[in-house]
Amino acid sequence: MSQDSHCIFCKIVAGQIPAKKAYEDEDLLVFHDIHPWAPVHILLIPKLHIASMAELQPEHAALMGKMTVLVPRLMKELGVTNGFRMVVNTGSDGGQEVHHLHMHAMGGPRPWLKG
Ligand code: 5GP
Ligand code: ZN
Repeated sequence: MSQDSHCIFCKIVAGQIPAKKAYEDEDLLVFHDIHPWAPVHILLIPKLHIASMAELQPEHAALMGKMTVLVPRLMKELGVTNGFRMVVNTGSDGGQEVHHLHMHAMGGPRPWLKG
């Protein structure tokens, strides 16, 4: 399924829910987390609805590579100069709350609220 009408992140992709965007192209959307753990806390998502890392297939390799390679560039653009942290929660025991694959990238001076 390319989009899930009940999925909050698909609604952000469709422009039905507002988000503070940091980057967008034909495959990916990046926006600021609504409840940031760190001074900079972005979420990188594929526009395609993939529920989690557990659903990834070999054909998603380029997409995931593109997403990963974007992180250092965006963190630099957002003023993060002293390191950052990436988290991908997967499934219930992985603590995933939104079931549309997303990569958290967090940075900025500590202390942080969480993480
Ligand atoms: P998870 O626990 O699934 O890895 O993380 C989901 C993240 O999405 C949480 O950090 C939460 O704050 C964020 N989030 C949930 N709903 C929204 C929303 O409507 N807008 C934005 N910008 N972030 C959201
Ligand atoms: Zn979705």
